[in-house]
Order: sequence, then C-alpha cells, then structure tokens
Amino acid sequence: MKIAICASEVVPFAKTGGLADVTGALPLELESLNQEVIIIMPRYKAIQEPKFSVQRLKPDISYSVIGKNAKVYFIENDMYFNRDGLYGDKAGDYKDNLDRFSYYSRRALELLKEIDFAADIIHCHDWQSALIPVYLKTLHIDNPFYQNTKTIFTIHNIGYQGLFSKEEFPKLGMDWKFFNMEMLEFYGKINLLKGGIEFCDIINTVSPTYSKEIQTKEFGYGLEGILTKRKNDVFGILNGLDYSIWNPKTDKFIIKNYSIENLHDKYKNKEDLQRICKLPIKTDVALFGIVSRLAEQKGFDILADAMEKICKMNLQLVILGTGDLKYHVILENIVKKYPKDISLHLKFDDPLAHKIYAGSDVFLMPSKYEPCGLGQLISMSYGTIPLVFKTGGLADTVTEDDGFIFDKYKKEDLIKTIDKASKAFKGKKKWPQLMQRAMQNNFSWKESAKKYLALYEKAKSR
Ligand code: ADP
Repeated sequence: MKIAICASEVVPFAKTGGLADVTGALPLELESLNQEVIIIMPRYKAIQEPKFSVQRLKPDISYSVIGKNAKVYFIENDMYFNRDGLYGDKAGDYKDNLDRFSYYSRRALELLKEIDFAADIIHCHDWQSALIPVYLKTLHIDNPFYQNTKTIFTIHNIGYQGLFSKEEFPKLGMDWKFFNMEMLEFYGKINLLKGGIEFCDIINTVSPTYSKEIQTKEFGYGLEGILTKRKNDVFGILNGLDYSIWNPKTDKFIIKNYSIENLHDKYKNKEDLQRICKLPIKTDVALFGIVSRLAEQKGFDILADAMEKICKMNLQLVILGTGDLKYHVILENIVKKYPKDISLHLKFDDPLAHKIYAGSDVFLMPSKYEPCGLGQLISMSYGTIPLVFKTGGLADTVTEDDGFIFDKYKKEDLIKTIDKASKAFKGKKKWPQLMQRAMQNNFSWKESAKKYLALYEKAKSR
C-alpha cells in the first residue's frame, strides 16, 4: 500500500509533544510491514544541515530519509516556516497559523502529484493537516489523480481544534458554501479539526477509551455531536512506544544503564538526578517526576492546589515542563518556599526528560483527560511507577498491578494517592515487584502498526 503521512511535527525533526513521537515511529513500523511510506511536513528553521541530512528536490521542497527508505518531504516557505517555534512564541499562537497550515495542506497534496505518489491512504494528524481531507473532497474532487485516495484523520487531542475567525475564510481558497454547520463552521468560527472529521473517510483517536470519551459532552469539546453522527467511522488505536529511544538498557542520556535484571543500577540515576536538581541525596524518600506540558489538561489545576500539601509529605519532586504562564508563576513561587523538596525546570529539555524517567521512583501524570499519553508508557519501561487519573489512554494502559490510579478528579484524591505511593515506596517490600511488572509491559509499535494497517484496509474498501 502507498501511504502518505502528513503531520506538522515528526521525530527527529520537530517535536512539541506526543504527536511527533507517533509520526516518527509509525512510518518505520509500516515500512517493516512492507508498506511504501512517505511523510510530508513543513520545514522549520531548526531542520538544518549538519544536524540532519537534507537533500534538495525542488526550489521549495527538500527531503531526508528515516528508517530504511522512508522519505520525509519538507515543504519550504521562509515566510511561514523559517521560525523558531512550530505554532507560536512567547506572545502566543502565531497570528498567521491559518495561512501557514492551509498553505502546507495545499502544497502537500500538490506534491503527491508532482512526485507521482498516488497514495492509497493519506493519514492526517490534528488540526494542522485537517485541511487535506477537506481539499481532497472539494478542490480536488474531480482530479483523477486522487480518485483512489482515502483519508484517515487521527485526533491526538480534541482540545486543540484550530479555530480561526470567519473573516479569514477566503484564505482557504474555498467557496463560502463550505462555511456551514455541516462542514467548517463552528459557532461562527472556522474549525479546522471539525473539517477534518467531516471530510475524512475514517476517524481515529489514540486510545480505545478516548475514542468513546470524545463522543460525550464531557470530553468532546463541542464536537461530540458530529462524532456521534459518524460513530461507525470512529476508532481508537493505542500509540506504541519507540523502545529504541526509550530504553534504560541503551539510553545514552542517563548516567547508568540498567534493566529488569539489575534494578539497583536505577538508583545511580536517582542519585544523579538529585545531584543535577540540587536536591538532597536521599535513598529512602520517593522521588516523583513530572515531564509534561504545563496545562490544565495535564492535571495542573488540581496539582497546583495540592502543591503545598505535597511539599510537606516528605518526598521529592522534579518538574520539567513549559506551558501556561499561570502555572510557571505558581510553581516558581512554591519552589522558592520549598527549595529542598522541589526542583523546577521550565523548559523543553529532552536529555533531562530521559534522566527524570530513569531517576524517579514515581511518574506523576494526573491528566484531567488524556488521549493516549506517552509519559506513562515511557516511565513504565524505566521501572518508574506511573500515578495517573483514570481517563483515556491512562485507563487503557495503567493497572493497579503496575501503577497508582485515582478515579475522582479531585485534589484530595490526588494527595491521597501520592501518599499511598510514597508509603508503598518506603515500605520497600512490594516495590521491586511493581517495578518489574511495569517493565514487563510491551507497548511496542508493532502491534499498533498492524492495527493501523487494518484500518487503512478498511478505508480502502469504502
Ligand atoms: P502531549 O499531550 O504533550 O503530547 P504525551 O504524554 O502524549 O503528551 O507526550 C509528551 C511527550 O513529550 C513525551 O515524549 C514527553 O517526554 C515529552 N515532553 C513533554 N514535555 C517535555 C519537556 N518539557 N521536555 C522534554 N520532553 C517533554
């Protein structure tokens, strides 16, 4: 099958979150299942030689290769993409995001024709590439080149929909008749995610539980109605984990590699993390780690409220993340008060993330909602026990056998569960078993890629 993966971020070229992990890993597995895969993404400023090997194809198209021979095509446009950020900067979202990603979507479709890649499947991800299914069924509806092309649209997070003002609609190059409630209009605005959902052949999300949740008012962010209408086309496939990157046996960023056979070496990483974070070197208190966007979705509303209590619980906490300035400020103030208990790193730092996954005892991920979540999968592979709220992909991947779970989204329940984890760590007895069970999980991409292939077949047969 010929598969084109279209996404705004792909590991190793550009990443702000789990989406990039998925679009970087899935093509490699599809390739090993003998599929012909290409990837199309924007060329951001950071994608440069010598860090990446990039070849030129056309004046505005370059490419690189991942896996055996999966070409990653970069759409270039200095005015739109030659920037440090992917979607915005400190001042917020870039004002021209509609121009940027409508341009990307149009150019991606043209490129397929120019390189004569008659895709069986175009697999789009989130609002940034949601216009591709829209353009395919509007601007290109009569173009014979795309006649046999089907689209899969994966929603990684329904909370981010790509909303723009109605006045910007002419930028899409489409007739106003498409600005209606059944298509791109959403409470007077343009909603790109909605467009993707309405126009694609199959809708997918990144865990079975989340695929059900988004069809409810509580989780659907206003799109539950259209999703319910298409419920027979909505599927959920868990993300896999790239064990070539997230593996304590081979991880190049951590001070001491370890495995299930020599778990005591994990504690050298704990000591290293405490040292880097200027926390007291202690073996008998649980070290909790967070690697996350600082957003309400990730549980920071209840976490912020619980912080004072947590800091008095005789545990250590390392937080790595960036996001809402509100949480930057709250956390900075708390650290000033409890510098020996918390270490705060307000940045995106991949090497430090690896050290936190390896050096912590518990990985804190109390997300309010979580489409799939990679943090809990990564932490389990490092024998770091996840503490999660029972929702979405967290509910699908963490059990009482390998993690700590609370099922009422309240700060009291979070505190209680943190206390339970902290005591279990100090109790020592059951902890090694917990670590072993966590590490024995296998969330490899192999199984997920097979499921995607089955979904592609389903789309093809429509
Ligand atoms: P998201 O909703 O942000 O995509 P996921 O759990 O699916 O959440 O994936 C987050 C990914 O981004 C993980 O690989 C995590 O380690 C990484 N990550 C998040 N924040 C940071 C940060 N500040 N520094 C380094 N890596 C980060």
